[in-house]
Amino acid sequence: MAAGDGAYTPGDGPMAGVLAGMPEVVERLLAQHVPDRLGRCTACRNAGSGVVWPCTLHQIATRAEVLRTRQGQRPRSGAQPW
Ligand SMILES: [Zn+2]
Repeated sequence: MAAGDGAYTPGDGPMAGVLAGMPEVVERLLAQHVPDRLGRCTACRNAGSGVVWPCTLHQIATRAEVLRTRQGQRPRSGAQPW
């Protein structure tokens, strides 16, 4: 997650960068954090009051997916290929 490696930008948030290296977690988040009929996240609703979907966790997971796709098959050690 070194700054300036071209794949990570501060706007992505630290969580998305971490999750980008954990595809199983991202998959589970995307599967669990889905909207109910009222447009609220079912997973987050269980944790407390209603949260409008897409919730923060779903947004982060989506962001992580994008990051991972952008990073391709590069090693996740943070090594710079160039
Ligand atoms: Zn949620």
